[in-house]
Amino acid sequence: MHRATKIVATIGPASSSPEILLQMMRAGLDVVRLNFSHGTADDHRKRAEDAREAARKLGREVAIMGDLQGPKIRVGKFENGKVQLTPGEPFILDANCELGNDERVGLDYKDLPRDLKPGDVLLLNDGLIVLTVSRVIGEEIHTVVKVGGELSNNKGINRQGGGLTAPALTAKDMEDIRTAMSIGVDYIAVSFPKNATDMEMARQLANIAGMPYGIKPKMIAKIERAEAIPALQGILDASDGIMVARGDLAVEVGNAAVPALQKRMIRMARDSNKLVITATQMMESMIHAPVPTRAEVSDVANAVLDGTDAVMLSAETAAGKYPVQTIEAMAAICVEAEKSEHVELDRDFLDRTFTRIDQTVAMGALFTAHHLGAKAIVALTESGATALWLSRHWTHVPIFALTPRVGSERAMALFRNVTPLAIEPNSDRDQALKQAVEVVVSKGFAARGDMVVLTVGEPMGQAGGTNTLKIVRIGDPY
Ligand code: PGA
Ligand code: MN
Repeated sequence: MHRATKIVATIGPASSSPEILLQMMRAGLDVVRLNFSHGTADDHRKRAEDAREAARKLGREVAIMGDLQGPKIRVGKFENGKVQLTPGEPFILDANCELGNDERVGLDYKDLPRDLKPGDVLLLNDGLIVLTVSRVIGEEIHTVVKVGGELSNNKGINRQGGGLTAPALTAKDMEDIRTAMSIGVDYIAVSFPKNATDMEMARQLANIAGMPYGIKPKMIAKIERAEAIPALQGILDASDGIMVARGDLAVEVGNAAVPALQKRMIRMARDSNKLVITATQMMESMIHAPVPTRAEVSDVANAVLDGTDAVMLSAETAAGKYPVQTIEAMAAICVEAEKSEHVELDRDFLDRTFTRIDQTVAMGALFTAHHLGAKAIVALTESGATALWLSRHWTHVPIFALTPRVGSERAMALFRNVTPLAIEPNSDRDQALKQAVEVVVSKGFAARGDMVVLTVGEPMGQAGGTNTLKIVRIGDPY
C-alpha cells in the first residue's frame, strides 16, 4: 500500500530493543528521532546503530534526526522531588536557590529575572501550572499561583506571549551537535530558534562538527516560540525544513491559535521548497491505550490534508506501551486520508514563472505524469534536489528517487511521496535510466506496460544538474 506521508518516531526506553525497532520499521517508521533532552550520548549512538541495522535487514535506509534540547528554561530540583502549589498562594522562582521547597525553587537560566516584569504570566509544565509575576527583587521572581497542581523537578517554564531571551544554542547543544555528527545523523532539529540568524549559527556549527565525517546535515527549525512566527519566512530561507512543534508553541501563543498556524506553516514551507514535520500529541492517548481517539485520528488526517511531509510521534513511541501499534495505526490513517486528497496540479503552474532548469524539468515531469496517467515518476538524483522540487506539489503519482549517494537516500526518507532507492553509480545516461527502471520493476512498483516518467541530469554525477525528461513504456525498446 503506497503511503505518501512519512512517519517520524522518537526512540526511547520503550523502543530501544533491536527487535522493536525492526517491527516499528515494518509498521512504517521512516525517520528515527533521537531526543537529546533525554539519554546519554551512548544511548543515542546505540539506538542509531540499531536503527541502521534494522533498516539494512529490510533492504532500505531510514533518516536519523537528532533533536537538540535547546534553551528550554526549567525550574531546578526540589528537596522531595516535587511540591504542591495552591491557587492564590505566593511562590518564588529564585536564581540563587539550590534545592527547592514549598516556598521557592531554583532556575537553570540565571538571567530569567531580567526578562520579566510584574503582570507577566508564566506557564510551567506545558501550561498545566500558571503563575503571575507580582514583583522581581534581585534574583528572585515573586509570583502568585493562578492555576496550581503538582510541580516536580526540572519542569519547563514558558512566558505567555514569548519574549524570553535565552541564547538559541546552549553549551549542551554544542556538545550534542558533535555527538550527533559522530553518529552520522541526517537531520538536526534546532529547538526554540527566534530568527534566521539562530538557524544560520546552528548550521555553521553542525557543518564544522560534521567535517571530519564528511557530512552536512539538513537543518530543521522547530517553530515553538511566539517570536518565530513573524520571522517564519526568514527562518524557512535559512533552514531545510521546519517542525510545527505544537507542544511549546501552544503554551506560548495559546492552544486555540495553533491549528491555523499549522496550516499556514505547512503552506509556507511547501511554497518555499522546504520540508515540514507536524509534531506533538498526535496519538497521545496511545501512550496507554492500544487504539487512538477519534480526535487523534482526525488530527493526523488533517495534517496529511494540510500537506505535511511527516507526522511525528514523541512519548507514544519513546515511552508508551504500544510503539508498534501506534505506527501501524498512524500509517493506516495517512493512507486513508491521502485517498481523499484533491489534486489540482495545473493550478500550481498558473501565474508562476520557473527559472531554474532542474525545477522546470521537475515541473514538466509532474505535469506530464499527471496528464498521461503515468504509473510512476522516476528521478535519478545526486543531492535529492529534484525529488524535493517534485514532492512540493500534490500528485497521486508516486515518486521514486534513485541515488548512488547513501546520504541522499537517507535524507529523502522524510520527503512526502518520495520513495528513495539505491542505484549503482553510472556515468552512461542510457544505462543509468535502464538500471533505474529495472530497480523500480524488481521492487514491484511498476510492471511491463506501465508508463513511467524519468528525469536525469547530464553530465551524470553532478548535483542540481537535472536537465532531461524522458517518457517510456516499460518493456518497449528504447
Ligand atoms: P519537544 O518539541 O518535544 O522537544 O518539546 C516539540 C514541541 O514542543 O512540540
Ligand atoms: Mn518543544
